[in-house]
Amino acid sequence: MSMPAFRLERPRSVAGAVSILAAHGPDAMILAGGTDVVPNLQMKLFSPRVLVDIKSLAKVCRLSAIEWSPGNGLRIGALSTLTAVCESLLIQEKFPVLARAVATIAGPLQRNMGTLGGNLCLETRCHWYNQSEFWRKSLGGCLKLQVSDALAGKEGPVCHVAPGGRRCWAAWSGDAAPALLTLDAEIEIAGPAGLRRVALAQFYRNDGMDRIALGRDELLTAVRVPPRMAGRRGNYRKLRVRNSIDYPLAGVAVSMDVDPRGVCRDARLALTAVNPAPLLVKEVGEWLIGQTASPELIERVAQQAIRTAKPLTTSGSTPVYRRDMVRVFTRRALEEAWRETAGAPV
Ligand SMILES: Cc1cc2nc3c(=O)[nH]c(=O)nc-3n(C[C@H](O)[C@H](O)[C@H](O)COP(=O)(O)OP(=O)(O)OC[C@H]3O[C@@H](n4cnc5c(N)ncnc54)[C@H](O)[C@@H]3O)c2cc1C
Repeated sequence: MSMPAFRLERPRSVAGAVSILAAHGPDAMILAGGTDVVPNLQMKLFSPRVLVDIKSLAKVCRLSAIEWSPGNGLRIGALSTLTAVCESLLIQEKFPVLARAVATIAGPLQRNMGTLGGNLCLETRCHWYNQSEFWRKSLGGCLKLQVSDALAGKEGPVCHVAPGGRRCWAAWSGDAAPALLTLDAEIEIAGPAGLRRVALAQFYRNDGMDRIALGRDELLTAVRVPPRMAGRRGNYRKLRVRNSIDYPLAGVAVSMDVDPRGVCRDARLALTAVNPAPLLVKEVGEWLIGQTASPELIERVAQQAIRTAKPLTTSGSTPVYRRDMVRVFTRRALEEAWRETAGAPV
């Protein structure tokens, strides 16, 4: 589990980071908290020549600030730690779905080191990919590694999840993205042409290998949530092997705006760990707006969520069980969000 050799760069500005990334292209990789990158380097999943340590930018460029204003909404710097996000009273009060989802990520050590930006740019995960070099070689490698820049052609072309196909089914396994999708979040990206903003929903590609729409010379600088999403009820439910630390095997995020009579004004639901991207279940809003809670309605939404989820083989659980837990979690998360509104009968 030794690390491959690399040069460490510590830029002093966002522009400096962008120019290092642009100069080295596929040979460079961003390092934030390192809680995903370092284990992956140790397992020789990639071997970049240059690691660009952006933690040094936390103080100088507002990259670790959490700011709120009624006009502009919430802005979270990409280098904010997961602990800072889930312990922020502002986020707990105004955006509970985000605080609750982030509080389930890994354990306290990883949350203290890991950043929100790193979480949104996480590598997709798979039972056959996230293994030691020795383990992988005994199976002839996997499709995701075969096309990765550093190891192109060095490991086998088979997807062990869906043999015969040419698609990588590694799963999106982050917890913050589904919560932020339900809050209509945008991300701020810095590149050679300056800053651009993208809807988070457009950022993910639903492709285990080419997971995010981020150029080699770009980095994520902040996450923004519009002010109209503040104060919504929200919940996050997560299936994992060990509740104290593990990645999700399935996750359901819900955010709702319910009036005092219990009538839904707006609702959003997103899934994680059951596809190569975190996904918004679009029909949910259409079905729930204008409705009061009923077991039949909630079950209908839960069935639709199952149709969207396509979990494939992984360690720790079966696809059938994970799909069924998506149904159960959808039901529970909706019931809780409705119940949290005073006076709403469920
Ligand atoms: C034991 C263990 C359990 C874990 N459990 C969970 C879990 O339950 N849920 C979960 O979601 N995660 C989990 N993780 C993964 C990880 O801890 C978190 O996702 C964390 O938020 C990653 O952030 P980081 O700053 O450490 O990212 P890094 O490891 O530094 O980077 C992760 C990826 O994002 C890229 N990146 C980082 N920052 C930026 C940026 N600003 N712009 C562009 N690209 C960037 C890196 O190049 C890399 O590809 C776990 C990790 C471990 C070791």
